[in-house]
Amino acid sequence: MTTQYSYSYHKGDGKNKALLGGKGANLCEMTQIGLNVPPGFVITTETCIKYLDQGKLPHDLLDEVRLQIKEIEQQSGKQFGGTTDPLLVSVRSGSAISMPGMMDTILNLGLNKQTLNGLIELTGDSRFAYDAYRRFIQLFGKVALDIDDEKFDVHFDKIKRQAGIKADVALSSDQLKEISELFLKVVHEETGHSFPEDVYEQLELSIKAVFDSWKGKRAVDYRREFNITADMASGTAVNIVTMVFGNMGDDCATGVGFTRNPGTGVNEMYGEYLVNAQGEDVVAGIRTPKPVSELADEMPNLYQQLVVLRNTLETHYKEVQDYEYTIERGILYCLQTRNGKMNAAAMVRTSVEMVNEGLISKEAALLRIDPELLEQLLHPQLAPNHNNPSLAQGLPASPGAACGKCVFDADTAERLGHLGQDIILLREETKPEDIHGFFAAQGILTSRGGKTSHAAVVARGMGKACVAGAEDIAIDVKMRLAIVGNIHIREGDVITIDGSTGDIYLGRIPTIEPSFSEELQVLLGWADEIAEIKVHANADTPDGAKQAASYGAAGIGLCRTERMFNASDRLPLVIDMIICDNVEDREIALAKLFPIQRDDFQQLFAAMSPNPVTVRLLDPPMHEFLPSEHQLIEEIEALHEYEKIILGQKVTLETLGTHESLPAPFNHLNDEVINEAITKKQLMLKKVRELYEVNPMLGHRGVRLGMSYPEIYRMQIRSILEAAALCVKKGISVQPEIMVPQVITSQELKKVKAIVDQIQQEVESNYEIELDFKFGSMVETVRACTRAGDLAEYAQFFSFGTNDLTQATFSFSREDAENKFLPLYNESGLLQDNPFEILDVKGVGKLMKMTADLAHQTRPDIRIGICGEQGGHPQSIRFCHHIKLNYVSCSAPRIPIARLAAAHAKLLENEYILES
Ligand code: ADP
Ligand code: MG
Ligand code: MG
Repeated sequence: MTTQYSYSYHKGDGKNKALLGGKGANLCEMTQIGLNVPPGFVITTETCIKYLDQGKLPHDLLDEVRLQIKEIEQQSGKQFGGTTDPLLVSVRSGSAISMPGMMDTILNLGLNKQTLNGLIELTGDSRFAYDAYRRFIQLFGKVALDIDDEKFDVHFDKIKRQAGIKADVALSSDQLKEISELFLKVVHEETGHSFPEDVYEQLELSIKAVFDSWKGKRAVDYRREFNITADMASGTAVNIVTMVFGNMGDDCATGVGFTRNPGTGVNEMYGEYLVNAQGEDVVAGIRTPKPVSELADEMPNLYQQLVVLRNTLETHYKEVQDYEYTIERGILYCLQTRNGKMNAAAMVRTSVEMVNEGLISKEAALLRIDPELLEQLLHPQLAPNHNNPSLAQGLPASPGAACGKCVFDADTAERLGHLGQDIILLREETKPEDIHGFFAAQGILTSRGGKTSHAAVVARGMGKACVAGAEDIAIDVKMRLAIVGNIHIREGDVITIDGSTGDIYLGRIPTIEPSFSEELQVLLGWADEIAEIKVHANADTPDGAKQAASYGAAGIGLCRTERMFNASDRLPLVIDMIICDNVEDREIALAKLFPIQRDDFQQLFAAMSPNPVTVRLLDPPMHEFLPSEHQLIEEIEALHEYEKIILGQKVTLETLGTHESLPAPFNHLNDEVINEAITKKQLMLKKVRELYEVNPMLGHRGVRLGMSYPEIYRMQIRSILEAAALCVKKGISVQPEIMVPQVITSQELKKVKAIVDQIQQEVESNYEIELDFKFGSMVETVRACTRAGDLAEYAQFFSFGTNDLTQATFSFSREDAENKFLPLYNESGLLQDNPFEILDVKGVGKLMKMTADLAHQTRPDIRIGICGEQGGHPQSIRFCHHIKLNYVSCSAPRIPIARLAAAHAKLLENEYILES
């Protein structure tokens, strides 16, 4: 059997978008459900690929095309190339995936000197005929003959200018005739040949040109930008459609519509139209179109027909449609339909409403929304109509828009933040000790560092806007100045940053607040009903827990206690604790921290009640709480200088006696105080040097700290259990979980468990209650994976720390990888994704699966979750569902995304293919 190259709209399979392209398939479908589509046919994408491979059209294609044209002629009663009632067609592109405006369309094909006369006689409207003719010559010239638009436009504009005309519609028949003749000359000059008169030659050249446009730069760039791969769309189909005319007079029109409002999702007629115009005029913005509601007055009968068309499309496709139509002399034709692209708010609203209308199922309502789209709804956005120019650009590191006064250090940010001011914290890069500045700021801007720099990660965790690595900005903290080109931004100047795009603007740009709408809550409620894997939050503070709860977190999967240590009222206590040289002193310092931690935990447990809260014992290496060696040396120097100044002051006083005009502050600080400060800084410096490690992240951290300084873990465990006891006493039901980080052997767990057991007994007898809590382990070292069966003897739960586990599996340090070679690996295809963003299921995932299997053998009811940053990523969630984890834990702002993704994981579980 020979291959069929083309299908008439009566015969083509409306479901086969791969073969017929989206436009072609839908034209078939619409024809077959009885909508008024102009007669036509579609040449397949396979034919396109064949043509591109062989460099020529298949030899028998044109015979088939002639047969198809015959069929159209029969249906329309018109003749292609005929002189009395000529058939004109459009030649339109359309691949499996819609790529709006990326490929070419030719309208009014079939016009030549003879058919033109036929058209004039038939319609009695020479103006219309010449208008169609000049459009055809230009479009054909551009698309099929590769002539620049400009060559035509100069003539067009000149005639308009000479006639003193602004709008195209005002051109007379004679003027359009003159333009057509000039256009024909352009073609001759540019190609050395006269314009093809043979209509089949016109058609052949056009088919080739549309096929070629698949390889055009515009289309290729678009596919690259949107990751459209060959198995998603390969080649373009070509549609040959009988022309219908919206430009034959005032009973004609052309328009585009959405079956619902794509900006809000409201179920209403939506769209724009132009009277007496051809399709491309609406899009090209040559005249300002009118809202479709006006059609109800202007052409009431046709408006009613349009309502019917809209309803038919929606009931048939069960999806919001974006459609094109043309009205020719009182008859409505539908020229295209496709699924409407909408913003997140509209997607959510239409999902919920279409279920309530009985149009689609809950499952379909969930599946039609890409979880990542919800990101839009969870952060403030810049007002869409602002048109301020961007001052500079950095990396879009944490989504959302924020504006506020520039501040160059965390302390000032905190101070001004407490006064209720909006703050943008500007730093070259941020450090853990800047954390209080993050709390106070609306947004963070750094001039160095990538999407995974400290600033980016922390901001994302808090759901605050962050632009990172804006290298065009020079930040001078000492001068309190940021310089971009010749623009100086001083402390207190207002700027706006957009963490979704990386743009930075001068001044305040209005933002739209995120809304966790009722519809979103309904939709996510359906998602929770369907999902099996639960979604927990990574949250470290009571406020974070409240936010997470409001987003629907089913618990806290990771509370990093050290984040509590960084707050400015605690850090000095932590430092005191660290610089102690003996256990006794350390116990004293810890005793001061104890009530603070206990209070934090109480609030945290209460905010999440009755859901579980997993608290990780101290994890980072201790030097992270201390300033850098360099900074300490500078500070000590400054103190010594200050000492001299005080001495100088003393000498001054002794020499001159008390003097009223001496500045007040000099009276407060005496050399004793300064000496104390110097001693303390020197102690810190000594400690920093002691704590120095070549590879701190592989060094003295995690449970290793617990083994060396059990008193620290003891304090933390006691504060967790007492907090729980206090909650229970108040009638708040809580489920604390104590989690040990960086474990490599069950012996470590055994030791910590012994401490837990002992403290449990003490607390239970002191408070006269029974505590209900769990004890478990992070799994973030490769050895923990291989020893999972043993660890499960002690651990009631596991939580995969996939950030560290990924580093360990790849032997990559994350920062070095992401800043140096990972982009190259991704771009050149050595690695498909960044494993720190998207869980590496082939490698890390294998370890996880093995770990889960081993753990279940020892303890069948062990609870297993994941708390790395990947835990909020839909693809990772599908994998976690697949290996039957109980929960994923992610930063609060990603919870809605994760909830929807968890439902997708369940609904699509049978389609999940795990590559090996
Ligand atoms: P795109 O894929 O860029 O939307 P189209 O193939 O839809 O391109 O065509 C461009 C414009 O021409 C649209 O406004 C469309 O409605 C109009 N058009 C295409 N074919 C016809 C036709 N046969 N009759 C009237 N207008 C048409
Ligand atoms: Mg179109
Ligand atoms: Mg870790």
